[in-house]
Amino acid sequence: MIPESDVMQCEPVEGHASGLIGYLLSDLAAGLAVVVDPPCGQAELILALLAERKLQLTRVLRTHRHAADPDDCTLLFARTGAELVIAEGGCAGSVAGERLRRVGNGAQLTFGAEFIHVLATPGHTPACLSYLWRDRLFCGDVFDLGACAVGDNEADPAQLFDSITRDIFTLPDRTLVFPAHPIRGRRVVTLAELKVRCKSMLGRGRDAFITEMAFRRLTRPALARAMGSSLPRK
Ligand SMILES: [Zn+2]
Repeated sequence: MIPESDVMQCEPVEGHASGLIGYLLSDLAAGLAVVVDPPCGQAELILALLAERKLQLTRVLRTHRHAADPDDCTLLFARTGAELVIAEGGCAGSVAGERLRRVGNGAQLTFGAEFIHVLATPGHTPACLSYLWRDRLFCGDVFDLGACAVGDNEADPAQLFDSITRDIFTLPDRTLVFPAHPIRGRRVVTLAELKVRCKSMLGRGRDAFITEMAFRRLTRPALARAMGSSLPRK
């Protein structure tokens, strides 16, 4: 793991209502920051952190957005002038024009002296991105394999298998993975550990994974009915 210098900060910003975890990356020397997946309802906290540290928010990076998700970045954009970064084909909500930047696999974003590499990792939704900063990967819900089975046709298990095995598992094992929701209670996990955890789902090959996800898609509504409520969307 590369040690964080004194001038770089990476901190989670959790949305307690949604369970979503966002991440504020700050270059204190340059006075610049970006935020990955800011949770709904936490804009004022993020603005307070920026003001306290005299930081300019330059970009809001979205790993993905579901069709039914609220357009919750309005306050951040109104108060900061930040640019929204989403995937080509992703939902931009009310942001348009020069405030909107669509990027694809291999794009490189800069803030201060730092670089963020963009990986296209579709599957959970058709337009998911992951962001690699130093040895840290912000991957949204790519590893939320249970929620991927929500039957609203956004998920594509074949794409998801390819994204994980071809584009993420080929990163160094020491990569620290920061998800948009805790993975079985964990807020950060190394890629090496994730490979072990996911072996039962991914280790039997692409076709077996697709079959398993299709089974989960079929059984999930019945499970929700048995629990007396809808299972949460992620
Ligand atoms: Zn999601």
